[in-house]
Amino acid sequence: MELCVLCGDMIQEYQLRLSPEIAADERRLIAYLSEEKGLNAKAIKATRVLKRSIDARQRAVVVNLNVRVYINEIPDREEYEPTLYNNVEGRPQVIVVGAGPGGLFAALRLIELGLRPVVVERGKNVRERKKDLAQIARTQTVDPESNYSFGEGGAGAYSDGKLYTRSKKRGNVEKILNVFCQHGASTAILADAHPHIGTDKLPRVIENMRATITGCGGEVRFLTRMDALIIEHGEVKGIETQTGETLSGPVILATGHSARDVYRWLAANNVDIEAKGIAMGVRLEHPAELIDQIQYHSKNGRGAYLPAAEYSFVTQADGRGVYSFCMCPGGVVIPASTHPEQVVVNGMSASNRGSRWSNAGMVVEIRPEDLENEELRMKYEESDGDDPRLAMLRLQEEMERQCWLQGGMRQSAPAQRMLDFTRRKLSYDLPESSYNPGLVSSPLHFWMPTFITRRLAQGFQQFGRASHGFLTNEAVMIGVETRTSAPVRILRDKETLQHVTIGGLFPCGEGAGYAGGIVSAGMDGERCAEAVAEYVMKGNKKA
Ligand SMILES: Cc1cc2nc3c(=O)[nH]c(=O)nc-3n(C[C@H](O)[C@H](O)[C@H](O)COP(=O)(O)OP(=O)(O)OC[C@H]3O[C@@H](n4cnc5c(N)ncnc54)[C@H](O)[C@@H]3O)c2cc1C
Repeated sequence: MELCVLCGDMIQEYQLRLSPEIAADERRLIAYLSEEKGLNAKAIKATRVLKRSIDARQRAVVVNLNVRVYINEIPDREEYEPTLYNNVEGRPQVIVVGAGPGGLFAALRLIELGLRPVVVERGKNVRERKKDLAQIARTQTVDPESNYSFGEGGAGAYSDGKLYTRSKKRGNVEKILNVFCQHGASTAILADAHPHIGTDKLPRVIENMRATITGCGGEVRFLTRMDALIIEHGEVKGIETQTGETLSGPVILATGHSARDVYRWLAANNVDIEAKGIAMGVRLEHPAELIDQIQYHSKNGRGAYLPAAEYSFVTQADGRGVYSFCMCPGGVVIPASTHPEQVVVNGMSASNRGSRWSNAGMVVEIRPEDLENEELRMKYEESDGDDPRLAMLRLQEEMERQCWLQGGMRQSAPAQRMLDFTRRKLSYDLPESSYNPGLVSSPLHFWMPTFITRRLAQGFQQFGRASHGFLTNEAVMIGVETRTSAPVRILRDKETLQHVTIGGLFPCGEGAGYAGGIVSAGMDGERCAEAVAEYVMKGNKKA
């Protein structure tokens, strides 16, 4: 508690366990503080929620709030910590390839450190990109340069905008959240235990980040694809774009997990990479109301004051992890492929998480050594090439192509009701779904690798036992979810973050295999920018 002895002004903090109704409304909260804590309601000038979480373990759902109360006092600071960005015109130039969270946060951190970022992005700006996304359902085709993975904001732009991470580096996580707030995200993300922005709000935040970069003298170029790295005597000197233009400077390579042409270029040009474990499965979609009823233990669902309910499941089946991934409560399932002859699904939601459905990836862990398994090997060997470092990537490609064939060679996705799947039965009809390009009934249990389906079925049985009502034919499995993380790791030195053999090359973010999710990709972008700053200070020489 901070107290001004002369005037009686005070700031007090309270840990409260409240009903959802009180927690959702500041006036009710003030009335509660007055009644329960003896505060004079009229003297309360403002309240700020510092931490908010929902405790749904018991029948009566409770909201935990850590609240700061301003008594006869007005808050004198922004709710977030702003970062100072200086002008970097004329400063040494750094090439950032990819304008996803990794690339954007790298660019902003470079500016803080006095370096001039030149961001090249193969896709379009975040608004133009939206038109191409709308076309996918209309024309049943995908633009390979502008889609749910490629374009300004990267894979995270049209997403749920979940901002939680397993990273324990709180300071770094908070920095990322504060930068989002500075660029227009709600400050609620600083308080929520499970913060998210929402796909309706993210594009404006991303545009504001771009405005900071260009306003400080950096550059952001769209429809500019890196086609090659320029490497001389073991050092990267810059990049060449699809038009043959060259750009000079050290390179932060933040091209995401879907830039398969980049992986292939690296493999063909002897840049060290290795196969990395991934997880594959399906998107599972339930009616949101059903998930709310299960998670909030009430047939009335979430009621007026609680958000769409989340879930998270994890188990082991035959020695491999089976788990829910990237849950989108009140969201929609979307077509996330980067090629017209693939079907890949993912999920996104608006800030209000208000759709009638809730979905999540349901995936099985696959390790590189699992490709020795006869059945998986058959799947990936059917496609081109035999470089073992790209084997995981080829498995993804093969599954995505199979899915496109099963879906009728369109963006329609093959699907099966959940209970039918566990009973190995074709679904005669499918429930209504949020997936816009449409669903086609398909025996996923039959054509997906049994390595995956056997474990998924075991996982579903377990999740159904743990959460009564979860295993149901009201839920539909939509194929396939293959892009849960990078299928390749681009090897870098732990200390310098430079590629293990090539100086001046900083593999960054999810595509390089060092992040998974928006916040961790942003944090990795910041770290790479700091490593580049050291490299530039040493006269562009590898340590
Ligand atoms: C639909 C969907 C929903 C998601 N929801 C969430 C969520 O709610 N929360 C969460 O934490 N994570 C979510 N993710 C994952 C998250 O988006 C990624 O982990 C994150 O975006 C990775 O950031 P990145 O910058 O490393 O790569 P990306 O975001 O993939 O960005 C890479 C960028 O590089 C560009 N690029 C590729 N190749 C080239 C080239 N040769 N030249 C120039 N540019 C190139 C691409 O166009 C892209 O813009 C979601 C992903 C998807 C697809």
